[in-house]
This record gives sequence, structure tokens and C-alpha cells, in this order.
Amino acid sequence: MKKTITILIPAYNEAPVLDSLYSRLDALSKTLKDFQLEFLFVNDGSRDETLEIITRFSKKDQRVSYLNLSRNFGKEIAMAAGIDHVTSDALVIIDADLQDPPELIPEMVHYWQEGYDDIYARRSSRHGETWFKKFTSKYFYRVLEKSTDIPIQRDTGDFRLLSRRCIEALQQIRERERYTKGFFSWIGYKKKEITYIRDPRAAGETKWNYFKLFNLAIDGITTFTTAPLRIASFFGVVVSACAFFYILYLVLRTIFFGTDLAGYPSMMAVILFLGGVQLLSLGIIGEYIARIFNETKQRPLYFIEHYHRGGKKD
Ligand code: UDP
Ligand code: MG
Repeated sequence: MKKTITILIPAYNEAPVLDSLYSRLDALSKTLKDFQLEFLFVNDGSRDETLEIITRFSKKDQRVSYLNLSRNFGKEIAMAAGIDHVTSDALVIIDADLQDPPELIPEMVHYWQEGYDDIYARRSSRHGETWFKKFTSKYFYRVLEKSTDIPIQRDTGDFRLLSRRCIEALQQIRERERYTKGFFSWIGYKKKEITYIRDPRAAGETKWNYFKLFNLAIDGITTFTTAPLRIASFFGVVVSACAFFYILYLVLRTIFFGTDLAGYPSMMAVILFLGGVQLLSLGIIGEYIARIFNETKQRPLYFIEHYHRGGKKD
């Protein structure tokens, strides 16, 4: 019996690229003759013809399965929905926009056969992205790495091959605030890195703006580490200690030299500074409380409008 590999493609308004994606995936079947492939599209509430195109694929090609989510849930949840429906021996997650070259998959499969569990593609360069995006993403990974105990793979996306036991591990993670890239590191198992040059999007537009990326960064940090809470306490201790010694100094000075009632500007400065630190700390605590709030609701992660499972698997 052939081993099965599912290729998971989250797609949100990707109509312009789907045809070329499909033909490049199709070309893979020739190099991966020894495996049974499944193409699992997750339509994440697209507002264009994405669903129609996927349905068309599924009618003529029994390797194509698809999940149609009830609305747009975002890429992290779309991936979770896909992962929940994987029954194969291995899973490859790939972006629909062809920024991840499908031609790397055979190399991933090769390492999987050698016994690796998580073969991830690290981008050695990023064409078509602004220096600001490169810069921010580089420093984001640095900060995240410094503040957790889990090794985070730098400059990697979600493009990777996962073995059966990784799939099962991921299926057990039911958190609502998802930072999937962190989960891959968190579950562990044998990892292998391969490098590639990241292409610009083939067509269409990126769904990420800086506001969304900022949110993802906050999610990344708050789902993985409570270090910011400690920073708040640390700040508190340092500022209180300084204030204590300053008060001591003021008292002694008044006893020995009397008082001159000056110092309004410095007092304002201290009050404003402390007010700022307090608001910041409250904000940090609020972030975590919000997360607790969302988790305790125990809502399902997503709803499925329709699931089409591709044809016979022999
Ligand atoms: N995506 C999704 N739901 C969303 C946003 C994006 O499923 O709400 C998918 C999108 O179709 C693509 C992948 O996630 O396959 C990566 O999105 P994009 O290319 O916009 O992100 P970038 O490559 O700029 O990080
Ligand atoms: Mg992209």
C-alpha cells in the first residue's frame, strides 16, 4: 500500500493564483509516484471565485478535497481546520500564493523517509518584500526567542512537512489564540531545515497589513511566554526602589537644610512617568486576561459549511 501525503492549502481570496498552483501541484505527482497525494484546500470564507475554482478541481480530480469554512476565520484557524481533517501519513502545509515553491516538497519527502518528523523550509532571502518587513520580522523572531525557553525557528513560515505523530500532536492543541508557528516548535520531534529563496506573490495581494502583523506578533508573544508580566513586575521593583531612596534623600535634606518648596517640574515628570508605567503594566495584564477570557469560553475553533472528501483512496 502506498503512503499518503496531504497537501494543505489555506486559501482566502486566491482565485487569480489557484490555476497555476494546481498545475504545479499536479506536476508533483510525477516525481512522487510512490505516494498517494491528497490536495486539501481550506476555503477560508473567500469573497471571490475561490470556492468555485476549488469545486471545479474536485469534480475532475479525485485527489482534491476541500473544506469550506462558514466565514473568514483567518489563516491560523484555517490551518487548524485543515489539520483536523488530515488522515494521511504526512502533511505538507503550503500557501496558496505560490510564495512557497511546491517543487521543494520532494526534498521534504526525502527527509521524511529518512526519519525526520518536521522538515521546514527556511527562507534564505525574501524577494519582493520591503526592508521594513524584513527588519521587523527579523527582530520579532529575536525577541520571541529571547523570551521563551522553546527554540523558535527563525525565518520560517508554515511551509513544512509534518509526520503522522506531529499531526496527531497538533490536533490535540485546542487553543483559540493560535500562533501555529510556535506550536511547531513546541511539539518537538525530529526537525530538519532546508533553505529556499522566497518568491514574491504570483498574483493577488497579501492579506497582511502592518496592523494584522502587529496583532500576530502580540499573539505570538502572549501565547508563548509570560515574560512581559515579569517585565512589569521588574519595572515596578526598580521604580519603587528609586522612589524609596529619593524619599530618604528628601527627608534628610529637609532635616539638615530646610525646604525651599521648589521642584514642581520634577514632580510632574515623576508622576507622568509612573502613570505611564502603570498604564503599560495594566495593558500587559489586560492582554493576558483577555486571553484567559477567550479560552474559558470554550467555543469551537471554527464551523464547516461543507466538507468534500476526495475520491477513493487505495
Ligand atoms: N489566508 C487565509 N485566511 C486569511 C488570510 C490568509 O487562509 O484570513 C491564506 C492565504 O490565502 C494564503 C496564506 O494564508 O494561502 C498566506 O497569506 P498571505 O500570502 O496573504 O500572507 P503572507 O505571505 O503575506 O504572509
Ligand atoms: Mg503570501
